[in-house]
Amino acid sequence: MKIKIICPRWPEGSIWRHFIFRFPYLSLTTLAALTPEDVEVTIEDENVQEINYQDQPDLVAVSIITPLAKRGYAIADQFRKLSIPVVMGGVHATWMAEEAGQHADAVVLGEAEKVWHRVIADFRRGSYQRVYSEESRSDLQNLPIPRRDLLKKRVYFFTNTMQISRGCPFQCDFCSVTAFFGHTCRLRPLKEVRKEVELLLKEKNFIFFVDDNIIANPAYARDLFSLLKEYRIKWLSHASVNIAENDDLLKKAGESGCYGLFIGFESLSQKTLQDHHKTANRVDSTGNS
Ligand code: SF4
Repeated sequence: MKIKIICPRWPEGSIWRHFIFRFPYLSLTTLAALTPEDVEVTIEDENVQEINYQDQPDLVAVSIITPLAKRGYAIADQFRKLSIPVVMGGVHATWMAEEAGQHADAVVLGEAEKVWHRVIADFRRGSYQRVYSEESRSDLQNLPIPRRDLLKKRVYFFTNTMQISRGCPFQCDFCSVTAFFGHTCRLRPLKEVRKEVELLLKEKNFIFFVDDNIIANPAYARDLFSLLKEYRIKWLSHASVNIAENDDLLKKAGESGCYGLFIGFESLSQKTLQDHHKTANRVDSTGNS
């Protein structure tokens, strides 16, 4: 069996379309890693290569976030015209399953870990469901190492992306992270994190932790930063702004090689923050958050 995993390109006009700091989406390499060994799997990221419509895979998997959905549907339609079945997943497909289902033979809702083997087995048999849904969330233990080896070489600014947690304890009402991954923070065991970090360091001493809030569990974050400090490494991630109120954690992050953190300020209006339950951010009397 041959499976092709596709990431559609960003639309024209988006800053991501020609973004110089281009990196691959972890969903592609993770899905490839979850694929059984006897399946031939390839990855095509349309942001760095053309989609090959001629190689006749047995199944195409398209992962979509909202800005990529329209293009993802066009790609899916094209493969289905060639009688090649398409399965769709990702955040957008999860929330817009009916819409995605108009362009796909099956839609996967939520995380793929617990259903991807079933999807493949069903398509192999030629008898599949229209919708696959995770029964419970993965516990993040024994996750396979993403198949970065399948990525096109020398086209990304870096390929060292890694995930160590999913979910965030905060309740911001606009957040797709918690809607998709939940309000509890699931964490990978640190010994598995260490193994993957060491693998990535063979490539480059830089890692982008794509976690939505790397300090979601401060005690774990402390241990993580101690681990990272053992290596000569620079890293980036996302964090909630309350890291600025925790001098010790902030210091540890810096000592461990933190190079930058993406922080969502969202608004400088306390009322707006309150209205949207953005409780990690507070605007003080001077107007600073
Ligand atoms: S702090 Fe960030 S990741 Fe957490 S719920 Fe709010 S917006 Fe989402």
